[in-house]
Amino acid sequence: MLICAWCGANAEAAPLGWTVEFTRRGPKYMCDHCSRENLCAIEGRLETELF
Ligand SMILES: [Zn+2]
Repeated sequence: MLICAWCGANAEAAPLGWTVEFTRRGPKYMCDHCSRENLCAIEGRLETELF
């Protein structure tokens, strides 16, 4: 079973839209909803880091 590391949503198998990030602690799953939100957050952070 996969559990979203961000919101705790779970799924039986890797559903479409979920992303897996391989960290030193192991794979970290993110559901489609959080992927979209996190993508915006990452883009925002990158923008602020540029300045
Ligand atoms: Zn999630």
